[in-house]
Amino acid sequence: MPNEAEADSRSPVTEPVEPPVSIRREWCKACGICIEFCPKKVFDADEEGHPIIARPEECSSCQICEQLCPDFAVSVRRKRRAPKS
Ligand code: SF4
Ligand code: SF4
Repeated sequence: MPNEAEADSRSPVTEPVEPPVSIRREWCKACGICIEFCPKKVFDADEEGHPIIARPEECSSCQICEQLCPDFAVSVRRKRRAPKS
């Protein structure tokens, strides 16, 4: 049985970050709009100019990338609203 100090020193279990944004690469023409306009700089470009979700933990689900993509290649999962009380 660990004492209190030992219990506090344990690192918490962290869940992998599931990106709220996804890219359909087969629809993407690598125009770079989403990369350029993401306010949180979530994307990097790969060697062909397609977006890579490099920093998913930064995404605020603002949907700017989804709205600006001319080829409907970006989907952003909406955040659930808290139920009204
Ligand atoms: S939803 Fe907003 S923050 Fe998230 S990747 Fe798109 S533009 Fe960036
Ligand atoms: S805006 Fe759309 S088409 Fe342009 S790079 Fe991003 S995902 Fe691809």
